[in-house]
Amino acid sequence: MDRDTSLPHHLPIYSGKVRDLYAPLDPNTGIVNEKALLLVASDRISAYDFVLDSPIPDKGAILTQMSLWWNEQLRDLAPDHVLSTDVPHAVSGRAVYVRRLSMLPIECIARAYLTGGGLKEYQASGTVSGVPLPAGLQDGSRLETPIFTPSTKAPAGEHDEPMTFDQVCEVLGEPLAARVRDLTIAILARANEIASDRGILIADTKVEFGVDPADLDLDIDDPIEWSSLDPDDVQLILADEVLTPDSSRFWRADQWQVGQPQTSYDKQVLRDWLSTEASGWDRADDGPPPPLPEDVVLLTRERYLEAFEALTGAPFNPPS
Ligand code: ATP
Ligand code: MG
Repeated sequence: MDRDTSLPHHLPIYSGKVRDLYAPLDPNTGIVNEKALLLVASDRISAYDFVLDSPIPDKGAILTQMSLWWNEQLRDLAPDHVLSTDVPHAVSGRAVYVRRLSMLPIECIARAYLTGGGLKEYQASGTVSGVPLPAGLQDGSRLETPIFTPSTKAPAGEHDEPMTFDQVCEVLGEPLAARVRDLTIAILARANEIASDRGILIADTKVEFGVDPADLDLDIDDPIEWSSLDPDDVQLILADEVLTPDSSRFWRADQWQVGQPQTSYDKQVLRDWLSTEASGWDRADDGPPPPLPEDVVLLTRERYLEAFEALTGAPFNPPS
């Protein structure tokens, strides 16, 4: 897909499947501001690891606003990276300036319900990421308490690999590992307390944490000896996007039924269509999915809006 990543006074530094990252430049000197990043959410949507040719209008703004709303709900659990929502007009509503952090090399995942890769591992071994679970759980079973099932942060194009807590301890040291585990679980538990009143179950979520290198007298590119950090000394900051349908599985509470795959809020329309004959697409063929028909695009957009409005209790205001 062609991407226009030019934005005056900003240096493009990364373009992911869905988001683009920029370093702000000083308008007078052109010097890179190393303390901040502009995190831009596009309207791109991915399915089965492919970025589709059809963008979903307003998706970037809806997810950015949702993430900001969650940051507020979680503020007493963890400080977040947001600096300002006063962003260039071209990316208005779908971008935030954030503190540029040194990111922990772990994808922090918590699961409140069993499904997907976690379910597969459980069926094979009775554990998920080394956490033993009771017998008899099925697809969609609610876990007694959320569990921490971290993974590696693989370089672009590679797949993240599950990690056990012991492996996380080897990378981060036990005190920091325990802190991110507890925080990740607390975030998902809080999110479900809030969402369950609003008809949504959050089966699992991925969060990322970082530390400000300046707090350690380091520069942004300096390597960090994670295991030497004391989490009582160094502030762990909640970064990246938080509790969006791109980072989490959102289910409809009223349709939740153990023992079967659940209807996910966001991608269901798209997946349903891709599995019809009309789409002409066969997942087994390994090729990219075809562009989406207009009605599938619009229905998908409706689902994102519905999730936003159900959660926040407020209408979504498209950026002007
Ligand atoms: P994919 O394309 O599969 O989504 P990705 O996860 O690399 O790959 P993004 O999620 O769009 O793509 O990339 C966002 C990147 O920004 C992640 O690597 C994340 O760790 C990083 N990031 C998020 N917040 C901050 C921050 N405050 N400081 C520094 N890096 C950050
Ligand atoms: Mg990511």
